[in-house]
Amino acid sequence: MTPTVLVVEDEDALATLLQYNLEKEGYRVVHAGDGEEALIMVQEQQPDLVVLDWMLPKVSGIEVCRRLRQRPESRNLPILMLTARGEESDRVRGLDTGADDYLVKPFAMTELTARIRAVMRRIRPGLADDRVTAGDIIVDRVAHRVKRDGKEVHLGPTEFRLLDHLMQHPGRVFSREQLLDAVWGSDVYVEARTVDVHIGRLRKALNHGAPVDPIRTVRSAGYSLDFGG
Ligand code: CA
Repeated sequence: MTPTVLVVEDEDALATLLQYNLEKEGYRVVHAGDGEEALIMVQEQQPDLVVLDWMLPKVSGIEVCRRLRQRPESRNLPILMLTARGEESDRVRGLDTGADDYLVKPFAMTELTARIRAVMRRIRPGLADDRVTAGDIIVDRVAHRVKRDGKEVHLGPTEFRLLDHLMQHPGRVFSREQLLDAVWGSDVYVEARTVDVHIGRLRKALNHGAPVDPIRTVRSAGYSLDFGG
């Protein structure tokens, strides 16, 4: 399970440097060069965190931040703001931008990656942990084991990754295409209905002897992990 970071930065050299360092840290990195593209990328790529430059063409970083906070699906999306020394740093410090953290340029890459790890741990504990829990399900990523209601569940590798991905964001609906990208990878050609087959297997294994089916099929939209509140 690789967390995705969206880098929104119009300076190509810095964007490349950020991408290189974040990939080295094990993140999947997607890039947007302006604010307008950033808003589209958040919907399309569903990143786990956004590194957002303050000064951007078309739509400013602060406006991107504001709009992301207005949308229910990105209200809690972690945002790390980048500002230039002097001009905006005082404002970003004083204003309620909705960002989770900020860094003043120029900054050390080790500082950035440390801040990202901290934000990830704080906001999406599941991403940084070796174990993730939702409802009565526990996924142990180190041992590659799954338990439901204390009982061992045996899953194939694909079903394991599917469950792990759904467990990151309980309640969120993923389309088949999004699950394909997240679980199989965007460079692999797999038919969308393959997802249905593996969801079927995952369901069967998870629900063996359990009274509630936690996987919700959302008609014409996709799937989510849902324990009914
Ligand atoms: Ca800029």
